Amino acid sequence: MLEVKNVSFQYKEAPVLKNISFKLQKGEHLSIIGESGSGKSTLLKIIYGLYHLEKGTLYWGNKQLMGPNYNIVPGEDFIKYVAQDYDLMPFITVEENVGKFLSNFYLRKKKKRIAELLEVVGMTAYANTKPTELSGGQQQRVAIAKALANKPELLLLDEPFSNIDNFKKNRLRRDLFTYLKSQNITCITATHDNTDSLAYANATMVLKAGKKVDFNNPKELYQRPKNRYVASLFGEVNEIAMNQLIEGDSSTKKILLYPHELKVIPTSIFKVKVKTCYFQGSHYLIEAKRKRKTIYFNHPKALPIEKEISLSILKNN
Ligand code: ADP
Ligand code: MG
Repeated sequence: MLEVKNVSFQYKEAPVLKNISFKLQKGEHLSIIGESGSGKSTLLKIIYGLYHLEKGTLYWGNKQLMGPNYNIVPGEDFIKYVAQDYDLMPFITVEENVGKFLSNFYLRKKKKRIAELLEVVGMTAYANTKPTELSGGQQQRVAIAKALANKPELLLLDEPFSNIDNFKKNRLRRDLFTYLKSQNITCITATHDNTDSLAYANATMVLKAGKKVDFNNPKELYQRPKNRYVASLFGEVNEIAMNQLIEGDSSTKKILLYPHELKVIPTSIFKVKVKTCYFQGSHYLIEAKRKRKTIYFNHPKALPIEKEISLSILKNN
């Protein structure tokens, strides 16, 4: 189990992480989400052991992780960290990069392991190619395979799919996370892509300006976001007072609604004026105005611009 306890950190004067605590069981997958600059990469680097901690402690099971002041080579050897730059050797092949830290003693075993890992990341066809001839996304996949070579106990992935197109991403994500589960490898991904965090994580932590603002299983987090910031990480969100939306409701309490939680009805007290219709494939995202406030809702068809529309809440939970 990984235990992060009261971790605070600063590079210079400004605090970058503020009193972060959480636990993660072995084999589980945590995704860390938050806007750019919220401290995701810093937290991963701290767990890996790249920075000295003045405040807070880290444990892996009973072992305290001591950081660079205690380890001659920074970084724990049972942890692998795949950074946003991939750290591949440019002039040796993909195969050689993946096998760089594998022993040559059992050559056949080594070959088999490399082949297995290239399969997981979908790079079998490039085994004999050099990284300089690969796209950013392909290099990213090789870096992940290399990190897995010696079966780390804890894998830290920083924006792992940032350079990989959607088509390939879905398959890679499925294959990689299935593999990690099958090997009981604990994994933390830092991502600003909400789809990374929803489908595959056991838990999601939300960071804002170095603070933990939410920690929950992805479904709860999505369905009951603590605040507008959390909800907005999953796309557009509306914050509307109950008494404006529901006739007869006297509550001024504001609720958060995603665009798919609002529907068009013939008439209601909640009227908006259509401004723009964005085609989304399966539906349109409609941007509308209610006085000066922007409201987003989903609709199967485009709607006439400037038309007045009545909306109502559609919540199935
Ligand atoms: P994220 O990964 O969520 O985008 P980072 O952890 O990279 O956030 O950065 C958090 C904050 O720390 C930012 O304000 C960033 O400017 C600052 N920061 C990151 N790396 C360094 C560094 N090496 N030296 C000084 N400040 C840094
Ligand atoms: Mg980052």
